[in-house]
Amino acid sequence: MAEKQVDRTREYVRIESVTKRFGDFVAVDQVSLSIYKGEIFCLLGGSGCGKTTLLRMLAGFEMPTSGRILIDGQDMASIPPYERPVNMMFQSYALFPHMTVERNVAFGLEQEGLPKAETAQRVAEMLDIVQLGAFAHRKPHQLSGGQRQRVALARALVKRPKLLLLDEPLGALDKKLREQTQFELINLQEKLGVTFIVVTHDQEEAMTLATRIGVMNKGQIVQVGTPTDIYEFPSSRFVADFIGSVNLFEGRLVDDEPDHVRIRCGELEAPVFVSHGISAAPDAEVCVAIRPEKILMSRTPPASGENRAQGVVIEIAYMGDVSVYLVRLDGGRVVRVTAPNVERHAEDRIVWDERVHLAWHPSSPVVLTN
Ligand code: ATP
Repeated sequence: MAEKQVDRTREYVRIESVTKRFGDFVAVDQVSLSIYKGEIFCLLGGSGCGKTTLLRMLAGFEMPTSGRILIDGQDMASIPPYERPVNMMFQSYALFPHMTVERNVAFGLEQEGLPKAETAQRVAEMLDIVQLGAFAHRKPHQLSGGQRQRVALARALVKRPKLLLLDEPLGALDKKLREQTQFELINLQEKLGVTFIVVTHDQEEAMTLATRIGVMNKGQIVQVGTPTDIYEFPSSRFVADFIGSVNLFEGRLVDDEPDHVRIRCGELEAPVFVSHGISAAPDAEVCVAIRPEKILMSRTPPASGENRAQGVVIEIAYMGDVSVYLVRLDGGRVVRVTAPNVERHAEDRIVWDERVHLAWHPSSPVVLTN
């Protein structure tokens, strides 16, 4: 998707050096983060990295061991969950099975004692927004997974929270429905202007949904950026490796100029030339990251003496839109290359056991120093 601009003058959530310990275990470690009004901010990370704990602290279900959380400028330390301008949609949607869709959505407003007529109007409005008007009188078991997910979303949004927290909101949906629902979520967010914080371990989901992503590892936020930043400019080996697939080559800086560097990698025959400078000590040990789609594969050798390798195709996976090739370099290292399947009947496609040349543009490698 086209990346949405984030208005950085309108900070809505501010997390200041927040740590959460459970006994000796540090689940969230010194996290500081600003989230702006109208964002879809994704907390992305592997299982157990602390995403849900951070979300639960925003909702007020857990208290930080140290640090502060401010929402709309207000310190949340003494504000109980039900008084926060926040609603949380849980991993399991937890709909009431014996109630209709309409009653499920109305429940929260009825609890608040809102007049009947206003409740009915807001529920109808919300069901319309999530396109479930026609299903108002069904029970949850008469709905598909995607429809149930939309009921849960309607139930969370009908209370008009300023901030909606979603924990793996699309986890129960199949791939196709998940993609469709991702776009619905984006539209909904744009329509209502609510700020969303979404926890997910699915990087594709984060890339599609997010205005910005916070990548978490072992309780810490290791990088924050737009999906493009995170993918194209990862700041560490961990992020490069966690997001998408990548070929990582350990090497040593041999030429360090303001506008270019050269790196020698043990597993590559030729030096890697990179058309931008980096900040690292001379002779530093660094890591070169090259995405599989940025490697060009051909039967003929490239013109340049740098940014090249050669080897034999040992595996091909046809994925429909692209094919993934595994190429074993002469030194033994296996490199992953992807190539788009532009033509339906490509007679000339590279096949198993063929000898191939690999090359990449000097702007493609990312040099990682940590
Ligand atoms: P997942 O994607 O698997 O849900 P997560 O990133 O959301 O993972 P959290 O649920 O935040 O992870 O948990 C972070 C760590 O804190 C885990 O190791 C978990 O076991 C631990 N933890 C969470 N809640 C508690 C608790 N109440 N008591 C003790 N340890 C806890």
